[in-house]
Amino acid sequence: MMRVVRTRGEMREARAALGEPVGFVPTMGALHDGHASLVRRGREECASVVVSVFVNPTQFGPGEDLNRYPRDEAADLALLESLGADVVFVPTVEEIYPPGHTASVDVGRLGEVLEGAARPGHFRGVATVVTILFSLVQPDRAYFGQKDGQQSVVIQRMVHDLGLAVDIIVCPTIREHDGLALSSRNRYLTPDERAQAPALQRALQAAATAYAVGERSADSMRQVMLAELATAPLGQVDYVSVADAETLDELEVVDRPALLSLAVRFPSARLIDCLPLDPGQPREP
Ligand code: AMP
Repeated sequence: MMRVVRTRGEMREARAALGEPVGFVPTMGALHDGHASLVRRGREECASVVVSVFVNPTQFGPGEDLNRYPRDEAADLALLESLGADVVFVPTVEEIYPPGHTASVDVGRLGEVLEGAARPGHFRGVATVVTILFSLVQPDRAYFGQKDGQQSVVIQRMVHDLGLAVDIIVCPTIREHDGLALSSRNRYLTPDERAQAPALQRALQAAATAYAVGERSADSMRQVMLAELATAPLGQVDYVSVADAETLDELEVVDRPALLSLAVRFPSARLIDCLPLDPGQPREP
């Protein structure tokens, strides 16, 4: 039987009764097949699976979509039950951020580039909530999606630097048939925007193909991405990046594991996507 818990105390109590290892999947709800893939992976690899559903206000900036972010607790719980989750943690904002709270986790420069430059404070909010959730859930392993590539880099760095005893597992991006990465925000798109949105993945693939046939100039690869994104005129490019996969420093020459990433602002939604480029690894299909 799946247990739904809402307070810190209930979460700690439920945790104490779980078989180990405990796998944990933090989410903001409005669950789709991308989230489901993380829960399934946890189910395969762990004795117990905990999922959190919490729209974290501290990772939204002023003017972002906090108030209209999609919420559907009943559908989320039904999906999680069908996937075999053991515990679902659905806290209120006050439960995560007690009155008068001031502590936060600062991830430094890693949180200031790329998404962090476009969304000041975003990664402080992410790192803080993930730390609180790790502290309450005490997972052995936590599952994150490659789709939010910088988020995975930030969490891995944070866990390493702070000595948190959690293995971070980064899972492949789940996509629609036309290549668009699944995202709770895709539902905001108008039909015209939706039709242009696969340009994000095409841009990443075009740069990866250039790399595969010998291109090593990061700037040429950025140009390849921009050329492909030009086929989506409704979208305004926030950034295209070819960065060191660990430090997220922009590269001149792609001579080490890299992260290709981009962000495009459509009138109805801002979309991100990324692709790791590891010289030693096969490409994402
Ligand atoms: P969110 O609910 O957007 O905070 O996402 C919760 C987790 O699901 C994060 O680790 C995301 O990276 C992951 N995720 C979101 N979309 C996808 C996707 N299309 N494929 C794989 N993982 C995803």
